[in-house]
This record gives sequence, structure tokens and C-alpha cells, in this order.
Amino acid sequence: MAAANSTPLELRPLGNTGLKLSSVGFGASPLGNVFGPVSESDAIATVRQAFRLGINFFDTSPYYGGTTSEKVLGIALKALEVPRNEYIVSTKCGRYIDGFDFSAERVTRSIDESLERLQLDYVDILQCHDIEFGSLDQIVNETIPALLKLKEAGKIRFIGITGLPLEIFTYVLDRVPPRTVDVILSYCHYSVNDSTLEDLLPYLKSKGVGVISASPLAMGLLTEGGPPEWHPASPELKAACKAAAAYCKEKGRNISKLAMQYSLSNKDISTILVGMNSIQQVDENVAAATELATIGKDEKALSEIDDILKPVKNQTWPSGIQQS
Ligand code: NAD
Repeated sequence: MAAANSTPLELRPLGNTGLKLSSVGFGASPLGNVFGPVSESDAIATVRQAFRLGINFFDTSPYYGGTTSEKVLGIALKALEVPRNEYIVSTKCGRYIDGFDFSAERVTRSIDESLERLQLDYVDILQCHDIEFGSLDQIVNETIPALLKLKEAGKIRFIGITGLPLEIFTYVLDRVPPRTVDVILSYCHYSVNDSTLEDLLPYLKSKGVGVISASPLAMGLLTEGGPPEWHPASPELKAACKAAAAYCKEKGRNISKLAMQYSLSNKDISTILVGMNSIQQVDENVAAATELATIGKDEKALSEIDDILKPVKNQTWPSGIQQS
């Protein structure tokens, strides 16, 4: 289906997969009520609008809302009534509402459960979810070999790994055979407040690994409404982002739009995965991308935000267990 907006969303290749992802990807964690309640009808309408405007990539996980996100995304994708090859779906394994389990037995069972909830025969990408909470050696020696079997069985097309600390990606990619891990998903490391993913991009490119960068709005820090209660950032980082959002508002600008445009500008990143739970958010985020393509980014406003965020630039938070 052709995009309904006048400037279609750019499609970018994902590493060596042959997939072409829309530059704005649909993060479905909000459909699991992670950022507040979302009705099923709103979720369906949001996904429909995303697809109508050219978004072809949808990401979920059994963890989001304790399987709710997968179920609701499945219903919404089915309601599109378009051929399966017109959209790309990724889900995850190893992280669940009751904890982590990256064993071969659990991830093998997990994909069948996910496919049932999503009402799909296969997913395009299955990603090991937040691997810093498991043993990275188990990921290399047990989980990824189990996922390779799922690939052979046709239940998944490509394999990915996700997490917060950037060093987990090199640890795993340096230890698996080439072209076994197709994709990495990094989050909160390529936005106006933290751009540390940039240093890893040449390495990932040299390995032919596709790059998905999630959370361009830093999980709500870079929004006028602010982050949810559970947000792990330090009070200092929260305060700086709040000040930046207020400054933008005072100047008649929207921090979320500027943040989207900053993240979208780097074409070595295949897709910017943003969590959305309303038609308005879809419209705004797609408009940010089309405006970037036609007018360019607002360098002056971005440099002003950069000044406000300088004291907390690249500040992150701990995630995961100590690896032996
Ligand atoms: P995000 O930075 O995309 O922020 C999402 C929040 O911003 C939500 O509250 C959303 O409603 C709001 N929002 C979206 N567009 C807006 C707009 N235009 N104006 C104001 N508010 C807006 O954070 P996220 O949702 O955590 O990340 C995006 C997606 O990436 C997730 O849904 C998930 O699919 C994926 N992700 C994966 C991992 C992982 O694998 N470990 C981690 C984080 C995110």
C-alpha cells in the first residue's frame, strides 16, 4: 500500500538482511500499557494510521505489558487486511514479566507462544531481549544456536540481540560466526542527550549487522509530558530534560519533534523505533521525518538544547548483572 502522505517515509536497508525498514519504526511497548492505559480500539487505530503513513516495521515483546502488547499488535495487524509481506514484525525472547530465561528450551517455546499471540506464521526478527540480564556466554553458546534452529524451521527470518550497555554487542558479535546475529537493537543511546551509539556504528557496519535504534524520546524524557514513574534516569538527567522541554515550549518548538529529527539524521541507523499510542503521535513523528527530508533539521534549536543538556550529556544508568 502506498503511503498516504505526500513525501513517503524513507526506506533504509537493515544490514545484510535484504529488509528495508521505514526510517520511523513503530515501538509497540505502549500498546502493553507501559506508558499508561491504551484501549484496544485506540491501539488498532494507531497501528492503522502508522501503516497508512508508510511505517512498515513493528516491534514488540512478550515482556511488554505481560504479553498484552503482542496480543494487541496481532489484532491490529490482522485488522489491516493486507498481505503479510507488506509489514515487518520483530518480537523478542528471554525476558518475561516474571523474569529472564535465555535457555534453549524456553526461547524455543517462546516463539510458538509469540506467534500464537501475534496471529502470525513467522516473525521477521526474533531478538534476545536485554541480554545484559543473562549470561552473555549462554547467549553465544546456547540461545543463538537455538534461534538458528528456529530460522531453519521458518519460524523466524533473522536473529537479533537487544540491551542497554553497548559493550554487550561487541562481546557477542566477536564470539559468534559471521552472519548469525543479523541485527542489534540499542536504546536510549542515539538521541539529543546521549549519542554514544555513534562510536559503535563503524564496527557494526564492518560486520554487516543491521542497526535499530530505539527510544529517540529517551523513554519519555524528551517529551512535554515527561517520563513515566518507573523511568530509571537520575534526578539530574530528568531535571535537565525537563528544562530542555520547557525551553523548547517557551520558544514555540516541540522537543519531541527536534529529538526525532536528531535521531533520524544518521542514515547508518536503519530505523528509529519510537513508542506510540495515538494517531496524533504517529502523525507528529511521521511529520518530523518528512519535514527533515524536505526542510532539514532545526540546527539552531538543536544547538540550544545541546547547551542545556551539556552537563548530563551521555549520562546513562546501570542495567544488567555483573558478567563473570
Ligand atoms: P520512546 O523514546 O520512543 O518514548 C515513548 C514515549 O513517548 C511514550 O510515552 C509515547 O507515548 C511518547 N511519544 C511518542 N511520540 C510522541 C510525540 N510525538 N510527542 C510526545 N510524546 C510522544 O521510548 P520507548 O517506547 O521505550 O521506545 C520505543 C520502542 O523501542 C519500544 O516501544 C520498544 O518497541 C523498543 N524498545 C526496545 C528495548 C529493548 O529491546 N530492550 C528498549 C527500549 C525500547
